[in-house]
Amino acid sequence: MALSGLDIYKLLPKTNCRECGFVTCLAFAMQLVKRQALPEKCPYLSEQAKSALDAASRPPIKLVVIGEGEDKLEIGNETVMFRHEEKFHHPTGLGFIIEDGLSSEEILKTVNKINALSFERIGCLLRPNLIAIKQNGDASVFAAAVKLVKEHTNLGLVLISKDASAQRSALEIAACGKPLIYGLDKNNLEAFTKLAVEFKVPLVVSLQDLSELSAVAGKLIAQGVEDLILDTGNKNIAEKIWDLTQIRRRGLYRSERSLGFPTIVTIEDSADRFDPILEAATYIAKYAGVVLIKANEPWQALSLLTLRQNIYTDPQRPLQVESKLYPIGNTSDKSPVLITTNFSLSYYTVLGEVEASKIPAYIMTIDTEGMSVLTAWAAEKFTPESISAAIDKYGLKEQVCHKQLVIPGYVAVMSGKLEDACGWQVAVGPKEASGIPSFLKNLQL
Ligand code: SF4
Repeated sequence: MALSGLDIYKLLPKTNCRECGFVTCLAFAMQLVKRQALPEKCPYLSEQAKSALDAASRPPIKLVVIGEGEDKLEIGNETVMFRHEEKFHHPTGLGFIIEDGLSSEEILKTVNKINALSFERIGCLLRPNLIAIKQNGDASVFAAAVKLVKEHTNLGLVLISKDASAQRSALEIAACGKPLIYGLDKNNLEAFTKLAVEFKVPLVVSLQDLSELSAVAGKLIAQGVEDLILDTGNKNIAEKIWDLTQIRRRGLYRSERSLGFPTIVTIEDSADRFDPILEAATYIAKYAGVVLIKANEPWQALSLLTLRQNIYTDPQRPLQVESKLYPIGNTSDKSPVLITTNFSLSYYTVLGEVEASKIPAYIMTIDTEGMSVLTAWAAEKFTPESISAAIDKYGLKEQVCHKQLVIPGYVAVMSGKLEDACGWQVAVGPKEASGIPSFLKNLQL
């Protein structure tokens, strides 16, 4: 249960000695509440206070790691139900399922296709996180498929099998990569628990009923398995959303430790190309820690990764690029200068169109704290004064021999005042970035 500032203050020595760097014990307590200070900063905490603060500071939803190295996936450690309350911290892991019954060539082809799913969007690299190998054949076929996949990807692995001996063979091959084992049910509980403890790997607990799921997760915690991921099996979308929401709610609001874990959802295959993507998108939006899906076409992956990126950005801090003068292409002192804001989406949209035009140009981004053009203009962050200041700050006069700026069409209204403020001629560009190539081709400097 979270402690209030006053609760924490009661646990402190109340001597106001300042050794923690704060002027009073109360000030220190308030920083602890906001997680902007660590309890260790106070050297005078009693053991009782330390353990109370430790329990209170434990995240309500545990962080679980799948895989190792740069491509490892971290999920959980979430603190809010709604994104606008703070932000969502660890993006849903997206994984693709491969059946072990495929031929080696088909498995390899699929792995290479998944490895190649990589997209750059507004300056960020979007990639899937996991490859799940699903057992359909015997244990040796499963182990061979796991070995083949492991040898050809750096992505984390999910081993899907209810057969504990098949899981053991696979883990002997893949345990060093910290895979997720998926297949525990009531019948193999003991064997899977032993595997998770022995190989120190995260474990999926699958039970349809939430109360049973909570009870079994509690038993596993007591047996020393702490890296759990929760699954409520195959259900329709409405039931699944209910389960995911309840697990999140009970973990966050009731501090129910046995439900304080990330979740996983497996999407059933479908003849329709869109249905699985729509279903996966629904679970990414509503609390799934991992989504496993078979559909692995680039357009399918890109749509899910784009949605995920949008949901997991900080709503209080728009994605921003550095405010500066960007030369695009082989610029010269005669190149046009386009002005926009430092909102990532604005910059990268303009960049894409300038590159498409094949006309070298400068893009000067104004620091608007990541606001888009119209929002920044309404908030008085994108003004004749801020643009004039940027001309001096980024040394525009030294870069070009002309004195002409291109501003976005949506802020045409500021063109006169901008000319007065900076002394440069202002050309009003198109409202939509898609008009930039033809605009640049016709621009007279
Ligand atoms: S170091 Fe401890 S006792 Fe001293 S002011 Fe900080 S919280 Fe209070």
